[in-house]
Amino acid sequence: MEEIIKVGNPILTEKTVDADFQQGVVIGHFLIKVLKKYREKIGWARGLAAPQIGENKSVFITFVDDTFHIYINPRILKKSVEQNLYREGCLSCAPFCGDVKRSKSITMEYVDEYGNFNIKEYDGFIARLLQHEYDHLEGILNIEIAEVGTVEEMNSDSLLEKMRDVV
Ligand SMILES: [Zn+2]
Repeated sequence: MEEIIKVGNPILTEKTVDADFQQGVVIGHFLIKVLKKYREKIGWARGLAAPQIGENKSVFITFVDDTFHIYINPRILKKSVEQNLYREGCLSCAPFCGDVKRSKSITMEYVDEYGNFNIKEYDGFIARLLQHEYDHLEGILNIEIAEVGTVEEMNSDSLLEKMRDVV
């Protein structure tokens, strides 16, 4: 569906199942269509996962450096022990956001929209974004794992909208 599913709907708490390749491509392109629409409407958001549009499949997309990327059946293989903090928003939880602690770098495998199997290392913002989207496939929302006392309405302090060290 083209409306994004909000927190409280049980589909967001279910673990997804693998998609076959063709199905993954179709879902991925539909996710791109919906994310484009929402970005025009609200002006932010850099990723979207299949459960957020009612599909219980392991597919998500990202939008970084003006490029959409489709990840089919991703698995995070490695997470760094070192973590950082970031004030995360989510289209399913907006207007609420919260500080979420995540690994600074990860290694992830996935199939892309051309059918290539990839294993890549990521760090910085993209590592954070991929972990957020991957959590959607595990049925986990950012506001559920946010640091206690940090969940609040967005835009309270723009200085928090960047990566910070865990103290
Ligand atoms: Zn999200």
